[in-house]
Amino acid sequence: MIKHLRSAADLDAATATLILDTAAEMAALAGREVKKLPTLRGRTVVNLFYEDSTRTRISFEAAAKRLSADVINFSAKGSSVSKGESLKDTALTLQAMGADAVVIRHAASGAPHRLASWVDGSVINAGDGTHEHPTQALLDAYTMRSRLGRLDGLRVAIVGDVLHSRVARSNVLLLTTLGAHVTLVGPPTLIPLNIADALSPAAKVSYDLDSVLPDMDVVMMLRVQTERMQDSYFPSAREYSRRYGLDLARMRRMPEHAIVMHPGPMNRGMEITPEVADSSRSTIVEQVANGVSARMAVLYLLLGGKA
Ligand code: ASP
Repeated sequence: MIKHLRSAADLDAATATLILDTAAEMAALAGREVKKLPTLRGRTVVNLFYEDSTRTRISFEAAAKRLSADVINFSAKGSSVSKGESLKDTALTLQAMGADAVVIRHAASGAPHRLASWVDGSVINAGDGTHEHPTQALLDAYTMRSRLGRLDGLRVAIVGDVLHSRVARSNVLLLTTLGAHVTLVGPPTLIPLNIADALSPAAKVSYDLDSVLPDMDVVMMLRVQTERMQDSYFPSAREYSRRYGLDLARMRRMPEHAIVMHPGPMNRGMEITPEVADSSRSTIVEQVANGVSARMAVLYLLLGGKA
């Protein structure tokens, strides 16, 4: 088993499948009255969050607690980081406290890679800048597999603000490793040149959402990340929705079995309408529940649990 999960590229097909299978076993726990396993008793998991988060932070905390680990939640606000402490000094403090795993979210792409060279424990990337978010890709793959029965040969469109999306990058890497065909869709200003070639030979790019929809098994909408935009990438929110938003009319162009995903948080009314987000074809709430199982599997396997 790998020691760190810094990128979805750390996972080969066998390791990724083992994590998804383990997540399925963890999910079976969620239905029990007592949801805890004693497996990580006495181990310490630190959640080191330098950027805002709702789902991911709560999810990692729930996952670690269900495995009986001691959990320390650290957020940059209210810590010595606001006094200017560097990531390295914070890392050395965590090291001195004996963290077995550090889950890090940071605005700088590559922060988890640096951190891994400073601490002895496992480092898990919970989102670094616009780079990667590998556990999101795992929970997304898990959701696709449980809804549609397979990943191999699945046709997945990832739509919207690909430029700023760590979710998109990790998903392209993981899904193509597992045999899916991924098409990145969005306005040319929000799709980096050569991104498909750079990530995977099995990925393609399209600028025309309507023509892509009838061929897809999965349509994953991305949040338009205005907080990372210094320039204007499209004329107006209305214009963006008209071309790239998923509404009921567009959803009807998808095959009947196809599902709609979104990592959250959503801009309802912009990349996705409320009717689509709340429809029975949307897996958005399921993705959140699956996130806990996927993260339990990652913590369990990285910290030395047996398959
Ligand atoms: N929650 C995801 C992330 O942290 C997606 C998003 O923020 O749009 O990358």
